[in-house]
Amino acid sequence: CGIVGYVGAQSALDVVIAGLKRLEYRGYDSAGVAVLADGGLATAKKAGKLVNLEKTLVGQPLPSGSTGIGHTRWATHGGPTDGNAHPHLDNAGRVAVVHNGIIENFAALRTELTERGHLLQSETDTEVVAHLLTECFSSTGDLAEAMRQVCRRLEGAFTLVAVHADEPDVVVGARRNSPLVVGVGEGENFLASDVAAFIAHTRSAIELGQDQVVELRRDAVTVTDFDGAPADVRAYHVDWDA
Ligand code: GLU
Repeated sequence: CGIVGYVGAQSALDVVIAGLKRLEYRGYDSAGVAVLADGGLATAKKAGKLVNLEKTLVGQPLPSGSTGIGHTRWATHGGPTDGNAHPHLDNAGRVAVVHNGIIENFAALRTELTERGHLLQSETDTEVVAHLLTECFSSTGDLAEAMRQVCRRLEGAFTLVAVHADEPDVVVGARRNSPLVVGVGEGENFLASDVAAFIAHTRSAIELGQDQVVELRRDAVTVTDFDGAPADVRAYHVDWDA
């Protein structure tokens, strides 16, 4: 339902939670975050309101990191439980993904992944993406390229945002039939399903086009189509009052 991603110099957790709060008005049933820190990936997710997640984080704080993603979920596949909340991870816990929308062909992908030895742990349509990303990342070593390869296999509507512990300064996003906007900062960049999530930090935005993938670094925003062809991007000024 709501998605936020961040790479920069601030605490990713703080930026992501604040961004998710700005998206709360949309309604949701659970929330979660992932932060890249100390060479690994740390996550927390909880059914219920963001305040439940925040309470969990007080009891079990995440290590601080400056790359992170977050999600508020409106369940379509799998009940609103802690386990079905996003982010979803691969079995090694190296990749984390959040998703808005519905992956229509998830059942076939799930069967295929299970046959290849992946252990799927949730009832969501989303989780297949984490497992597919880890397979493609192991052959490419490039999360944006892995995302392009995975998106070519997906049917349905999706905004996807992912991080990988082996690329600690990168956040990757993709979209089809579901919105995704880049917030362009100085030495930091944002991704969100709605500009409201980052308006407190920057008013420079890039709307991702249909079937595009974006790679975000602190000082770079690179957009391509699902085949890797570079896309023309133009930032616009967000001039509504927040
Ligand atoms: N289909 C996904 C799920 O049920 C994403 C739902 C959403 O857009 O929040 O987990």
